[in-house]
Amino acid sequence: MAKLIDGKAIAQEIKDELMQEIASMKERGIEGALAVIQVGSDPASTVYVSNKKKACEALGLRSESCEFPEDVTEEALLKKIHEYNHNPRIDGILVQLPLPSHIDEKKVIDAIEPTKDVDGFHPLNVGALLIGEKGLISCTPAGVIELFKRSGIEIAGKHCVVIGRSNIVGKPMAVLMLRENATVTIAHSKTKNLEQICRNADILIAAVGKPKMIKASYIKEGAVVIDVGIHRLEGKKLCGDVDFDEVEPLVSAITPVPGGVGPMTIAMLMNNVVLAMKEHYGL
Ligand code: NDP
Repeated sequence: MAKLIDGKAIAQEIKDELMQEIASMKERGIEGALAVIQVGSDPASTVYVSNKKKACEALGLRSESCEFPEDVTEEALLKKIHEYNHNPRIDGILVQLPLPSHIDEKKVIDAIEPTKDVDGFHPLNVGALLIGEKGLISCTPAGVIELFKRSGIEIAGKHCVVIGRSNIVGKPMAVLMLRENATVTIAHSKTKNLEQICRNADILIAAVGKPKMIKASYIKEGAVVIDVGIHRLEGKKLCGDVDFDEVEPLVSAITPVPGGVGPMTIAMLMNNVVLAMKEHYGL
């Protein structure tokens, strides 16, 4: 039977460690804060923002939020980011994506001070990741690496196939696996013979955005499968990019959805806030 990689428990372990670090910084008079900017009132975004604020509270961090109406100008949004960039009481800045189409997302990401860019989306942080320098790393792929490390799953020397090449998940995921000495293949929508390529993977990471696309025919027996996808099916049940029922009997370890990669994202966001605080205070 496959080992279930328990993202919920590992995320809690990380948050417990962070809580202790945050408490000891507080004893030294250092209080960290995350600023969250939301544009419009998309229900999913509102839930994500509220979860991030709750996570801060639970760990003893301050959170500040700024809610703009859907029709806010790009100029007003950029002005707020500049304010937070220069506010010494703010350690991390996060702009909840996606943004309305009249706002240039790239301009917004570029405007965030890189040392406060807790999403790890700023080109300087992405570049630092690529060349192996210090920087803030995109939370979901960073969370996947923690899942491997804390479950004792070896990465070095393994053939890893990452399906997906988005800037947020697929690309940083592939770079991180390379950094951990995997041999990495990146697949995407134009990849030919996807099933065959995936069947060669010791580690398969699915970040495709297609519910239950990865079937038994994609799997090498004994592989480790990480499912980044999250989809809400009719009747509100959640599923991933992997057809769990078909794939689980074939693999050595797998992340469930929910309770796999999902909880890691917010834990790693909190980790990034703590890293930003340390940088900020020279700790
Ligand atoms: P994107 O839609 O930005 O990227 C999807 C990637 O999959 C693209 O690179 C695309 O290729 C590729 N792709 C699409 N269809 C196929 C196909 N049929 N065969 C091969 N490759 C394909 O999604 P994200 O990277 O933002 O997210 C991926 C998934 O992860 C989503 O389900 C999302 O909800 C989930 N997610 C989960 C998070 C969590 O906390 N657990 C956080 C972030 C995302 P191409 O580039 O050619 O278009």
